[in-house]
This record gives sequence, C-alpha cells and structure tokens, in this order.
Amino acid sequence: MTLQLNITPQAKASAQALLDYIDTSPSPWHVVATTAAMLKANGFKSLRENEPWQFKKNGRYFVVRDGASIIAFVLGKQPTAEAGFRMVGAHTDSPGLRIKPKAAQSNEGIAQLGVEVYGGPILATFTDRDLSLAGRVNVRNGNGFDTHLIQFDQSVVRLPNLAIHMNREVNDKGLVLNKQTGLPLIFGLSPNHEEAYALFTNKIAQQLNIAAKDILTWDLNVYDTQKGSFWGVDEDFIANSQLDNLASCHAALCALLDTHDQEATAICALFDHEEVGSESATGAGGSFMQDIIQRICSATDTNEEGRLRALANSFFISADMAHAFHPNHAGVYEPCHHVRVNQGPVIKTNVNQRYSTNADTAAHFIQLCERAGVPYQQYAHRTDLGCGSTIGPIIASRLGVASVDVGNAMWAMHSVRESAGVADHLSMTTVLTHHFKS
Ligand code: ZN
Repeated sequence: MTLQLNITPQAKASAQALLDYIDTSPSPWHVVATTAAMLKANGFKSLRENEPWQFKKNGRYFVVRDGASIIAFVLGKQPTAEAGFRMVGAHTDSPGLRIKPKAAQSNEGIAQLGVEVYGGPILATFTDRDLSLAGRVNVRNGNGFDTHLIQFDQSVVRLPNLAIHMNREVNDKGLVLNKQTGLPLIFGLSPNHEEAYALFTNKIAQQLNIAAKDILTWDLNVYDTQKGSFWGVDEDFIANSQLDNLASCHAALCALLDTHDQEATAICALFDHEEVGSESATGAGGSFMQDIIQRICSATDTNEEGRLRALANSFFISADMAHAFHPNHAGVYEPCHHVRVNQGPVIKTNVNQRYSTNADTAAHFIQLCERAGVPYQQYAHRTDLGCGSTIGPIIASRLGVASVDVGNAMWAMHSVRESAGVADHLSMTTVLTHHFKS
C-alpha cells in the first residue's frame, strides 16, 4: 500500500479556511449568510426569485431561498443547450438539537430548554460540551417582522452527564439518552415556567437589542462553541462540528469562486434539510434546483428543447462526506473498500441507488481526478449494514442528469465533534474546480 503522507502548506491553508468557514457558520442560516458574503466579496450579484432576471455576459450570480439554501452560478461562454451545466451539490444542515417554540421550563428551580432532535446525531456527544445557540429570530416591526440572525458566542446551555455512580453500566452498554426526558438543556435558575420563559426571551432580546415582547418566533440550533482545530503529532488531522457537510459546501464554493471564462455554466447548490430527507421547499427534493435551471434557460434565450438538451449535456457531482477506516473497528467495513483520511476524494457506490454513482459517472470522476493530479478512493458499504443516502439520487432523478456521489473520508460522522484529514480538502476543491472548468 502506498500512502500519500506529505501535507503541503497550501493544503494546510485550505483546511484552515474550512475551519474558519465552519466557525463563522454555527447554523444553516449562518452558512448561507457566510456563503453569500464570500460570493459578494468575489463579484457575485444577488438575485431575487420574485424579480425578473437579466444577465450580463459571463455573469456571476446567486439566489437564496428561505435563508437556508443557496444556489450560485457562473454563466459559461458557450450556448446553454450545447454546453449544459457543470453542477456540484452539498448540504448546509447538520444533525443535532433544535429549540422548541415554547421551550423554556422550570424543574425544581433549574431553568431548561426543551429540544427536538434534528436528523440523526450521536446524542451522547452533546453531553458535557460548551454548547450555545445560533439561528434566526423573527421580531415584530410595525406591520410585519424582521428576521435577525442570532448567535451567542459564550456557552449558554449545557447537557451534563449523569455521574457514573448513578449509571454504573455506561461503559459497558453505552450512554442512552431518552429523547424527551434526557435531552432538555440547562440554561439558568428560575422558580417557574413563566419566569424561565422570560429569562430566555430577555436573553434573546438583550442580544438583538430589541424588546422581548416583540419576539414572534425562532429557529434555534444548538452548536458547540469549541473552535475548529488541527490535531495529531504532525497536525495531519482537523476537528470541528459540521464537517458533514460544510467541508463539501466550502470545497464547492471555493471551486466556484475560482471559475472564470469557462465553457459551460457552473452551478454550486447548497441545500437545507438533507439530514431529514430533503422533501421541503428549500431541500434538494423541492423545486429550487429545477426552478433556477429554468430561470437560467429563460434568461439565456434557451427554449424548452434547448433546456432538455442542456440537461443531457450536464454532469452533477453530489459532494457529501464518506466513512473513513477506523482502526479500532476494522470489522464494520467492507474488505478492499477501506477509505483513509488524507488519501483523496472517495467515490461512493451503492447499486440500490442510495448513491447516484454508476460505472460511467464514476469513470468520469476518476478521469477528472487524473487530470487534476488528485488521488481517489472507492467506497462501498458492508452488505449487511444499512447504507446512508445523499442528495445525489434525488437531484439525479428530478433533473434526469448524469450524477456521481463523492466525498472526503471522515471519522465520527454525526458527532458534535467530527474529524477528517488536512490534505483531502484541497484535493476535493481542486477536482471540483476541474469539473466546473471541464
Ligand atoms: Zn452529509
């Protein structure tokens, strides 16, 4: 086995940029705000879905839907029908805990927040961490309301473990948390439910500099305040929350920012709700992608036949993370499909279409890697284990386009603190750049 072990300064800088992107994006709404700010800083113009669109030659644009999904694109030099689209998709959401609408409660003087479980997190990883809250709050303004992004930098909530003296079997049977009774987060002291609610809403009001009575609703995500880090004796690895799938979002975004004067229109689409099945107005199962493609066709004088020809000339890369080989648990992997961190992007295959990859699209991606000078690996799940899925099969079936599922290898997927390899991020960004320019 030949291993690629040297990590270049460029790879390290790329991984640092990823950690910074995650640290400024503690909720899907922040991911979109961070992404939009980077696009604007690089000359992309914001478009609104409720306005007519007119494009400039080789224009660079982005569209946000409901604050948590974003599609950015760079128009190609060739006619849309002839050149088609070079697309990359990823997801802005991560599994975790979300605050309920009337969350605050008092339990024997301890103020707590009720939470819902979003998607499939490893719940035990949320215990004993310096957790906080980030998301959006709707605040009354005369006739309507304004939406404010909110983030508490300091830790304002916590889920303490039960002492081992009351949970003697925790190391043999694992930490089991009842989703209703085991997850409410402690945030302060309060004698009753009403005062607990006031304590919580006053904290939000103070943070936003508004009156607590004007708070209408919120979407609040529980996040880990610990910043991203490099680890290992040679700092070969990175750790942070949300690597699944902000690593792919960031790679796709950086690849698009680096795309100029290319032949085909390049599209980077980052969707909310992947972790809960993608069926929503903002999710990959909704109309967002089709609507944007239709709008691009209309604004580039591409008729219906031209749109279908464009899709037939297109290629979609679904970028989401992959399961790295863990040496302490070698038995859970398919033999000969052990994928390793720092050994390049992973092509994911599942014949039951949990992944959209087929032999043709995998071959296409392999050749992109070869042209980009990037190593690649191939993954298949153990046959007796249920395989996860991605937005790949959803987009492929909605659009009828050729599609491949790829991603970088990582450990502890769906933990609040995931880890991955330093070298892989630049490799993925490089191959996605080659795709946009192909
Ligand atoms: Zn994912």
